[in-house]
Amino acid sequence: MTRILTVIGARPQFIKAAVLSRRFAGMDGHEEILVHTGQHFDANMSDVFFTELGIGAPAVNLGIAGASHGAATGRMLEGLERAMIDAAPDWVLVYGDTNSTIAGALAAAKLLIPVAHVEAGLRSFNRAMPEEVNRVLTDHCSDLLFTPTATASANLRNEGLPEARICEVGDVMYDVALQFGKVADRQSEVLSRLGLERGGYVLSTVHRQENTDHPDRLRAILDGLGQVAADRPVVLPLHPRTRGRIEAQGLGPLADRLTLIDPVGYLDMVALEKNAAVIATDSGGIQKEAFFHGVPCVTLRDETEWTELVEAGWNRLCPPLDAAAIAGAVAGALGTRGAPVTPYGAGNAAELIADRLVAG
Ligand code: UDP
Repeated sequence: MTRILTVIGARPQFIKAAVLSRRFAGMDGHEEILVHTGQHFDANMSDVFFTELGIGAPAVNLGIAGASHGAATGRMLEGLERAMIDAAPDWVLVYGDTNSTIAGALAAAKLLIPVAHVEAGLRSFNRAMPEEVNRVLTDHCSDLLFTPTATASANLRNEGLPEARICEVGDVMYDVALQFGKVADRQSEVLSRLGLERGGYVLSTVHRQENTDHPDRLRAILDGLGQVAADRPVVLPLHPRTRGRIEAQGLGPLADRLTLIDPVGYLDMVALEKNAAVIATDSGGIQKEAFFHGVPCVTLRDETEWTELVEAGWNRLCPPLDAAAIAGAVAGALGTRGAPVTPYGAGNAAELIADRLVAG
């Protein structure tokens, strides 16, 4: 019996864990224990994903949210260590690049419990991003590195990580998109609820610290999207951090030109993505989802980890420094399509990961 302790805490991790948890549920010879750090806790940032994607209730919720990076990571380390000692797992499974990821990997490494990292090897090469520090450290203390792309595997080799640890499986987010894309078509009513026409609006999300915590960048984004909104609605499901920063920086009047909504569940998000004319985002996951659904994307950042989509013409980088440049990038993306590339595997990443872990 293989016992796997899965650490989750933030929205994209619930989504990634969903396909793997489903796969585990259909297999014998293992037990999965979900531990939620509590990093995201609002109903629309956490609970909705468990319900919609059929994820089992976490065995433990550490309830750690709202502290600074160091304080939150420290408290997670302590709570996760306790959970790992209690559960004595054969593997600790961590996802992505959040404080929950590094806390899980480090707690396990110190207890000499093998760590598996899903979405290993991604690099922006920008150490000012908290996510980049989390990724690099997590990769270097993990025993199994499940990479989503050839670029990610190459990054790990360049850092001297041993070949035996690298396991290129494809991207679990592709699996999720394939499994839930049609469900979204059947179940989501978000377009009619918001009065949107298929292909008649732009979808945007903004939550990276480098944008939300720099008033000039946040102002340029809201102003640029506001210019786009003169021609077609711009729908912006607001991450709680972004909502707080808009209020704190007095940018409310600029944001009023946009269709601001609360964060939505995964099925509504997929429906909004599939039917958008363009997606403008600083999210990692949404850059790929735009591609999975054949929608052109503008990435509101200086760099991206998902370089293959820029090379293939599905995505263009627009450092968010100037409102007119953002509006121009969105206008330039309208109606474009990239090359027919397949960089994210065959849609069976979860199967490959689960088989590898349960096999030992
Ligand atoms: N997402 C969602 N509802 C929203 C915004 C995003 O379900 O209101 C999903 C989105 O479809 C993607 C994931 O959340 O699967 C991306 O998470 P986020 O942008 O927070 O993190 P990142 O991918 O940048 O780490």
